[in-house]
Amino acid sequence: MNAVQQFKLSGIALPKDAGSMLDEICEHFVEHADVQRTDDLALLFSKTGSASIRIQDQKLLIELTCPSEAELQMSRTIIAEHLFYFAKDEPLELSWSQPASLSVLPNIHEVTIVSAEDVTPHMRRVKFSCTDIAPFVGGDMHVRLLVPPKGRSPVWPGLREDGRVAWPGGEDELLVRVYTIRAVDIERRELWIDFLQHPVPGVKTPGADFARDVQPGEKIALLGPGGGGLPEAQSILLAGDESALPAIARIAAEVPPDTRMQAIIEVLDEAEEQPLPSAGSLEVRWLHRRSYPPGAKSILAEETKKAIASIDGQTFVWAACEKEDVRSIRAFLKSHRHERKNMYVAWYWERDPA
Ligand SMILES: Cc1cc2nc3c(=O)[nH]c(=O)nc-3n(C[C@H](O)[C@H](O)[C@H](O)COP(=O)(O)OP(=O)(O)OC[C@H]3O[C@@H](n4cnc5c(N)ncnc54)[C@H](O)[C@@H]3O)c2cc1C
Repeated sequence: MNAVQQFKLSGIALPKDAGSMLDEICEHFVEHADVQRTDDLALLFSKTGSASIRIQDQKLLIELTCPSEAELQMSRTIIAEHLFYFAKDEPLELSWSQPASLSVLPNIHEVTIVSAEDVTPHMRRVKFSCTDIAPFVGGDMHVRLLVPPKGRSPVWPGLREDGRVAWPGGEDELLVRVYTIRAVDIERRELWIDFLQHPVPGVKTPGADFARDVQPGEKIALLGPGGGGLPEAQSILLAGDESALPAIARIAAEVPPDTRMQAIIEVLDEAEEQPLPSAGSLEVRWLHRRSYPPGAKSILAEETKKAIASIDGQTFVWAACEKEDVRSIRAFLKSHRHERKNMYVAWYWERDPA
């Protein structure tokens, strides 16, 4: 029997409060991994490896185990980024058995814009051509878009010793936004991303503006893919607004023929609806924000909850929308004891970002 090779790395984190940091880690990663918590120990299992995080002497002792070196480095960066995110402004020390050192992240893909066109009045599709399409086929659905400042040669991020991403600053600062790969055209080696145009009076919307202004031939980079793949279930409830519509469309397009789906999708009006071809069966209910009564709130979340109340425990709930709506959908699923493994509920944007 062949022994499966494993790659390992250990780290020590010294946060202000190790207990509440471990609580935050468990609460967050439950969306992405199988999380097992017993007192001072958390075990996280995902397709790309496992992490053991134990509290000892007010420190967090971290052990990462992955099937490949690339996945090990990626897991370290994910853990490091999240620890510093959870620490906010509080002090945090983090060191590893082997410090990270990379001038450019391994999963950065330079891509060239092929075209940009409106799919509906408020949804703009940009097609990107890439040298190597393989990393984007199947697997995770999302990427971070990295747009360099106009007129400057791009400086792509590397890694700090503590495993965090070393973002270029000053004049080389990148625009960074998360988007969904709407479709992958293997033959043409092209990716499509659909960008919602959501003008907010007096507020800059750099991600949306990139898609509005971009010209064929321009080069940017995509970091990833990551952030979750297609749900695997025979029955799926899909819910989301325009920011989730590209992901919902991709899920519908790629599920196997025997999949049953119902979708609740909130868009501005009828003109924003899109055809959603699928080999499975799909029943879609479009909600039109323009027709809501004045002052109406959380209609998508409320309709999603009603739908959740009528499904069985085996139906996979896939929901993505604004942060507050996501919180209330998650709380409802919890009160219904819907199993974690049968849900993906993620916020894609924030109404009042700090
Ligand atoms: C995993 C993931 C996948 C995503 N996939 C897509 C995708 O495929 N297509 C897509 O269009 N978006 C997608 N999003 C959402 C997108 O990343 C955010 O909407 C992002 O904030 C847009 O950046 P911006 O620069 O245009 O606006 P920002 O600078 O982030 O925000 C500017 C203002 O616009 C408001 N705002 C931001 N997003 C929205 C919105 N969706 N609706 C209304 N107001 C908004 C903010 O509250 C703020 O006031 C995804 C997000 C995640 C986390």
